[in-house]
Amino acid sequence: MEENTTVQETKFCKECGQKIAKKAVICPHCGCQVEEAKSEAAPQQIVINNTNTNQNVNQNMNGGIPFGARLRNKWVAFFLCLFLGAVGAHKFYEGKVGMGILYLLTGGLFGFGWFFNTVSLLFKPNPYYVF
Ligand SMILES: [Zn+2]
Repeated sequence: MEENTTVQETKFCKECGQKIAKKAVICPHCGCQVEEAKSEAAPQQIVINNTNTNQNVNQNMNGGIPFGARLRNKWVAFFLCLFLGAVGAHKFYEGKVGMGILYLLTGGLFGFGWFFNTVSLLFKPNPYYVF
């Protein structure tokens, strides 16, 4: 005397209304898909948009470089000043030969000019104007 105690979990098909196993993904009666297949997720396609829109736009307020001004690269001047500031290398780079010679003779204004220029160059825009 054995009773079948296994109660099969069932549900009803959304399409045909037949009793089907709860775990069934596809109805055996009508063949319709009744559950979303969870295990296999579609591999995500990674689309890398490598659009280089690097544009160097030099926007000059007055339609050009101000009179008597020279355009200098900040970082060139900064590293020249940092390593060779004691001999006025950044002053020569800026075109200030007189100051360069002064820095050369005084060791970057006894270090003060050297130090001050290094710090102030850090806060300049790139490129920057030399007047
Ligand atoms: Zn069905």
